[in-house]
Amino acid sequence: MSVSLRYLGGASEVGKVGALLEGSQGRLLMDYGIQPDDPPSFPLPAPDVDALLLTHAHLDHCGLVPDIASRGTPIISTPVTGELAARMAKDTLYVSEIENYPRPFHPTAIGDLKQNLRPSIPGSVEYRGGFEFKMHNAGHIPGAVMFEFPQHDFLFTGDIHTVDTQLTRAAKPKQCKTLAIESTYGGREHPDRKEVESELIDSIEDTVNSGGQVVLPSFGLGRSQELLMLTQGLGFEVWLDGMGRDMAKIFQKYPGAIRDVGSMNKAFKETNFVKYSRQRTRAMKGDVIVTTSGMLNGGPVLNYISKIRKDSSSAVFLTGFQVPGTNGHLLQEEGRLRLERDPESSSFGVDCKVESFDLSGHAGHSQIVNFIDKCNPEKVILYHGDNREAFSEDLKDYDLVLPQENEYINID
Ligand SMILES: [Zn+2]
Repeated sequence: MSVSLRYLGGASEVGKVGALLEGSQGRLLMDYGIQPDDPPSFPLPAPDVDALLLTHAHLDHCGLVPDIASRGTPIISTPVTGELAARMAKDTLYVSEIENYPRPFHPTAIGDLKQNLRPSIPGSVEYRGGFEFKMHNAGHIPGAVMFEFPQHDFLFTGDIHTVDTQLTRAAKPKQCKTLAIESTYGGREHPDRKEVESELIDSIEDTVNSGGQVVLPSFGLGRSQELLMLTQGLGFEVWLDGMGRDMAKIFQKYPGAIRDVGSMNKAFKETNFVKYSRQRTRAMKGDVIVTTSGMLNGGPVLNYISKIRKDSSSAVFLTGFQVPGTNGHLLQEEGRLRLERDPESSSFGVDCKVESFDLSGHAGHSQIVNFIDKCNPEKVILYHGDNREAFSEDLKDYDLVLPQENEYINID
């Protein structure tokens, strides 16, 4: 029985993943995301499928899932991923309205997503479109999974991380013959995570103890909550503003998806949440403010940085990768930033400290190589990367495939 994989997006680039798995009895869509650029971009159109298998709730993997759900297609994900994806979808519609982009799906599609969700959990065996499959933890954000297809000895990873973080447990390699794996960090390594965490905590303590405030721009899903856990117990007044609050509430409903739920709940209890915009005046006086957006392209973070930017005792600590072209990249590289969402608006210099800490949710180069070696496959399909060639030497013993979008790859 011949099975093929074909990427509709996210093969040769980081973002907007969509992959079709086609067999003799049916076909599955693996993720279907949006690239939230300015303007947003989308994978190639997807045909009707027997089910959509969703690895996790980041926009570049789940952004267009409501559109597929509105055809009545079953959506298979972990319970927490399904709820997070529905919340992300609400935000997508909100952003397209304020940015004046066409809506990528009709608002009723969010209800369709909830209705057609067929949750599964790691280890449980499922059947759709003639395929048997099961999920395994992917260690990337809460609810993130990889999909294993035992009949075809095939593993599809989604985004993975191979070390424990505050919120997640490391992904474990699975023996397989064919492995399709993300390669976001091709050619780049992460410093030791525990060391980065303690350097960040030290820098936060130094800043606040010398009378400054710390703004931590962060992505609402995963990173915000992780930063609350890291700053918990320091005795500071910590505020969370932005979508991270809703995400935190969803995490609390699914304790099984969290590595250390006790310390997460403790961190949330100690956090002051901005529920209404008038509370921002109080949050402005806090010691530590965790807020969206992570790359400073809009969101409440710009209000907070406007307030501290002239204060040399305060600091902005960046903990996520800043994509070139974003406001966060401008701040990181040139110490300047735009204080308005409009990319045409003028930029201003800052006097506050700006430092970067690598708390990535993706495996680094050697971690990916090590993961592949332990899966011990014959064929390795590298996707979701813009520097996949960086792996050629380290993966020369495998049948290495670097697919382009729309190219058919044989699975067995
Ligand atoms: Zn992701």
